[in-house]
Amino acid sequence: MGDGALPDQGLKKDELLARLDEMRAGDADWRSGRTFSLVYNLDDDEHEEALEEVAIRFLHENALNPFKFPSLVQMDQEVVSAAGHLLHAPDPRHGKLTSGGTESLFLAVQSARDWARNVGGIAEPNLVTPITAHPALAKAAHYLDIEQRKVGVGPSGRVDPDSIEAAMDSDTALIVGSAPNYPFGVIDPIPELGEIAQRHGTLLHVDGCLGGWLLPFWEELGERLPCQWDFRVPGVTSISADVHKYGYAYKGASVIIYRDKAVLEQQYFLYDEWPGGLYGSATTAGTRSASPIAGAWAATRLLGHDGYLAATAKVRDAFHAFIEGIEAIEGLVVTGTPDVACFEFGSDRYDIAAIGDVMDDRGWHLDRQQGGLHLIVFPFHTKIVPEFLDDLAHAVTTHGESRGTAAVYGAVGD
Ligand SMILES: *Cc1c(COP(=O)(O)O)cnc(C)c1O
Repeated sequence: MGDGALPDQGLKKDELLARLDEMRAGDADWRSGRTFSLVYNLDDDEHEEALEEVAIRFLHENALNPFKFPSLVQMDQEVVSAAGHLLHAPDPRHGKLTSGGTESLFLAVQSARDWARNVGGIAEPNLVTPITAHPALAKAAHYLDIEQRKVGVGPSGRVDPDSIEAAMDSDTALIVGSAPNYPFGVIDPIPELGEIAQRHGTLLHVDGCLGGWLLPFWEELGERLPCQWDFRVPGVTSISADVHKYGYAYKGASVIIYRDKAVLEQQYFLYDEWPGGLYGSATTAGTRSASPIAGAWAATRLLGHDGYLAATAKVRDAFHAFIEGIEAIEGLVVTGTPDVACFEFGSDRYDIAAIGDVMDDRGWHLDRQQGGLHLIVFPFHTKIVPEFLDDLAHAVTTHGESRGTAAVYGAVGD
C-alpha cells in the first residue's frame, strides 16, 4: 500500500480480484447467518443471483437524468406505488425512491421544514421526536439547522404521546414516531400522535424504514400489533420504508411516501440560474448508479405479495423463538415488549458486555446498545436459532472472564 498514493501501474484483473478477496477475508461472514443488522439475508440463492444480474445490467446507467432513461422512471414509480399500496396511501404514487433510510428521513425533515416556512409562515421550525428515533433524524436536523426536541421513553420503549405534545409549540413543523424503533422493536402510539398532529396542524412522519416492508405482512399473518401505524391513521402525513431492509433489495433503496402531493413537492429542487442549463432533482443525489433502482424494482417483482408473506412468516418464527429462548435463560431479560423485527436483551445479574464478548469469540456479531445486546431477525435466522441459544447459554455461564466492549454503531474516523 505504501504511502497511499495511486499505484504507478494499474493492476491486472486477476491480481485485482485476488487482492480484493484477501482484503475481505476479515469481513463479517453474513452468509453463515451470524450477523444481525447489516445484511437482510432472505436465504434464497435464486433471489440473490437474479439481483446480481440485475445489478450488472444497470450498473452504468445514470439516474441523474431519468428522462434519458425512461425505464428508470417506470421502475421508480412502480416501487413507490407498490409501497404506497402496502401502506394504504390515499394516492400511492405520491413518493420517491431514495438511496436509503437516512435520505428518506432527511427528505421528510427537509420537506416539513420548507412546508412550515413556505406555507405556515414559521421562520424557525422545530422537530419533536422520541429519543429512540433513528440518529438519521438528528443528522438531518443538524444539516438542515433546525432544532430537534427529544423526548424520553419509559421502560416499555414506547414514547408517551403526552410528552411529545408537551415538547411542542407553535413553531413545531414535524413530529415523528417509529414503526418500529430500532433499539427496542417497539411501535410508537401512532394513532395518538396522529390526533396530536391534527390538533396542532403539524406534519407527522412515521419512520417505517425497518417495518415498512414487513408490518403489512405481519398484520396479514394475524400477528399482534399494538396499533395501526400507516396512512389508515388520520394525521400521518409521510412514511419512510427501506427496500434494502425487509424489501430484500440490495443496498441503496428506500421510499418516502406522502399523503399530500403539495408536501412532496417541497422536496423538488429546480435551478435555472446556471450557465449549464436548467437543473432539477427530486431527491438529494446528482449522478448516481441506476443499479439500486433496478434492484428495488426487481426484488419487489421477484417476491410479489406471496414471497413477502412467506419471508415474513420466517421472520416471525425466528423472532418468537429467539425471544422465548432468551427469556428462558436465567439472568437474561428482554427489554420492554418488542412488537416486531428486533429487540434488545440485557441482564439483571451479569455483565452483558462480557457475555457479548464471549459471543464474539464464537463468531456471532451482536450489536452493543446502551442497555444491552441487540438482535434483528431475518428469514435466514430460522436455521440458526438453536445454535445461537446454545452458545448464549454457554456465554452466560462463562461470562465472568472477559471485559466488555463499549457500544459502537457505524463508523467515525479511525
Ligand atoms: C435502518 C434504519 C434507518 C436508517 O436507514 P439507513 O438505510 O441505514 O440509512 C432509519 N430508521 C430505522 C428505524 C432504521 O432501522
